[in-house]
Amino acid sequence: MANKQFKAESKRLLDLMIHSIYTHKEIFLRELISNASDAIDKLYYRALSENITGLSRDDFAIHLSIDKENRTFTVSDNGCGMTKEELETNLGTIAKSGSLSFKKENEAKEDIDIIGQFGVGFYAAFMVADEVRVISRSYQSDEAWCWYSKGPEGYTVTPAQKEGHGTDIILTIKKSSDEEDYDEFLDPYRIEGLVKKYSDYIRYPIRMEKEKSRKKEGSEEYETYTEEETLNSMVPIWKKNKNEVTHEEYCRFYREKFFDYNDPLRVIHSATEGASTYHALLFIPEKPAFDYYSRDFEKGLQLYASGVLIMEKCPDLLPDCFSFVRGLVDSQDLSLNISREMLQHDRQLKLIASRLEKKIKSELLSMLQHDREKYEAFWNGFGRQLKYGLYSSFGANSELLSDLLLFYSSNEKKLTTLDEYVGRMPEGQKYIYYACGDSLERIDQLPQAELVKDKGYEILYFTEDVDEFVTKVMPVYKEKEFRSVSSPDLGLDTEEEKEEAKKQQEENKDLCQAIQEALGERVSEVRLSSRLKNAACCLTAKGQISLEMERVLNAMPGEQKVKAERVLELNPDHEIFPILQKLYPDQKETLADYAQLLYGQALIREGMLPEDPAAFATVMCRLMEKKEK
Ligand code: ADP
Repeated sequence: MANKQFKAESKRLLDLMIHSIYTHKEIFLRELISNASDAIDKLYYRALSENITGLSRDDFAIHLSIDKENRTFTVSDNGCGMTKEELETNLGTIAKSGSLSFKKENEAKEDIDIIGQFGVGFYAAFMVADEVRVISRSYQSDEAWCWYSKGPEGYTVTPAQKEGHGTDIILTIKKSSDEEDYDEFLDPYRIEGLVKKYSDYIRYPIRMEKEKSRKKEGSEEYETYTEEETLNSMVPIWKKNKNEVTHEEYCRFYREKFFDYNDPLRVIHSATEGASTYHALLFIPEKPAFDYYSRDFEKGLQLYASGVLIMEKCPDLLPDCFSFVRGLVDSQDLSLNISREMLQHDRQLKLIASRLEKKIKSELLSMLQHDREKYEAFWNGFGRQLKYGLYSSFGANSELLSDLLLFYSSNEKKLTTLDEYVGRMPEGQKYIYYACGDSLERIDQLPQAELVKDKGYEILYFTEDVDEFVTKVMPVYKEKEFRSVSSPDLGLDTEEEKEEAKKQQEENKDLCQAIQEALGERVSEVRLSSRLKNAACCLTAKGQISLEMERVLNAMPGEQKVKAERVLELNPDHEIFPILQKLYPDQKETLADYAQLLYGQALIREGMLPEDPAAFATVMCRLMEKKEK
């Protein structure tokens, strides 16, 4: 019989398993049992949706058996089984378990972590066995096949005999050595302990024959006999009472089910009866999964109907802003063969979704109020998503999310909530001020912010692309309007100051006009500023689009570019200003050069480049030369 090669990726994982020095080799059992349970789920579900008769839920079971003499340990299920082709594709290629793709992203991390924290699936068998035989018969076929492998050299698939559908996985357990004990996996008590530890909630009975002893009838002698026992309680963790489950059990369940290596930050376990009856078990992860911010990420909760998994990721249960939440919902009100389309319109499901949304929010709020450090860790990973969720719902989610937002602020350079900000606003401060830039340091240096800071007003630092857009869909918080430090009116001047500024503007109208002409299309206005203290000039924008929004929007793919209406503001109290006044109207050429320099430096302060850096450099040199002459 031909020996077939494993796919390259599979071989790598297999090598990893065989040479594993991982101490928890015992997890192989969890993996095999979980596959068996999935196979039964599949068949059960298909039986219902395809109207296959003659299958009753009570007939399904997983059997374990030990043959000490031949050193074999067998896991059998009467699930969907595999055809010859399925044996080859499923076991010859490691497909979706995710562990390898994760490993690629985290090449530096130890193999050990990967094995321990991620489902490595079927290949885990090779941690404890040096030969693996899989005898399987698909529920759609009369033929059985045997897949056999001794490791990375390859595998064979040959015809076999098997009564009924399902799969037997027969492991030939490795010999124990001085360093490593494998005999424990041939000990029924040890196996029973492992089932209780890892697979207690599996919803099908896991049975094993156990040797027992009893007194012979009418005699004092003992005799041994075997009896089959169910080892697991079969109650899924989400159906247990909260007080029956330890935090460690929740965490282990989470890590294994959702392939995370960190414990969740929060666990939400809720059960409701009445208008809709469901159990929900939700987790707030500590960090985004490696694909979280990628296109491939799909949000959703697992959906069970009376204990049967009907959808791996049901997106309708989670709003976009909470897409990071992992978990499951089990409801007895849902029909088993409900279609995706019907689910979307299901009233029960909508009701559940809206309750979960409130639960998640209150859990996050409670974390924010009582465990700020954890919340900030959460915020670092997922804050962007909350803000994005607020924006993409056009503000419809502001009530849900506004209290959960955090921003850096000029006050102590710490994260602050909007509520805290408003609470600290001194009397007379009308607006919630913010400034945009790509780093806290740069924002700190923005000349536009000088006056606001000088007044002692706090400024929120918007460093992420989405931040300013949030204020477009949620312009007001607690009756306070958001206002950019670059907006035309900061609302700081008194009537007198405004009058004065107007007068000054009028007096310098022609000068401003000349500078604007020198800059051409680049600016739509040049005017005197009342927001500057130390800087000579700054750039602001009038109209709907700010400089920051221009940057963000133009960085997105697509042809259509937007342009902010740029305003160059000059500081009339700066030493350079009288010099400009002196140059006008007689030295228009030098004034034009100065205009280039002012505009260029304003751009640089914003973290942007002059549109024509070469021309900017030329002007600079020309002026240096002039100075020396
Ligand atoms: P995963 O379970 O993460 O997909 P595995 O390596 O454990 O990865 O298994 C690969 C595939 O082999 C499974 O997706 C499933 O299709 C198939 N398989 C494994 N065990 C069984 C089984 N007992 N019965 C039927 N199919 C199985």
